[in-house]
Amino acid sequence: MQCPKCHAGMVGYQRDGILIEQCMVCRAVLIGEYELVRLVETCGCTLPPPLPSNGHGGRHYEGRHRRN
Ligand SMILES: [Zn+2]
Repeated sequence: MQCPKCHAGMVGYQRDGILIEQCMVCRAVLIGEYELVRLVETCGCTLPPPLPSNGHGGRHYEGRHRRN
């Protein structure tokens, strides 16, 4: 996976069974929608309402078409 900000490679790691991907260059963090819910449940925080434009279960990042 590529960073949506600087397009560097991202490193995925697991924390408490939750997959998180982080850019080692600009420190951006990507997290899947399912993982976000899990994380919120784990920490006891409240989850903000989902974005209405993201209705297809994708991840919250841009630049997906720039794969090369
Ligand atoms: Zn980056």
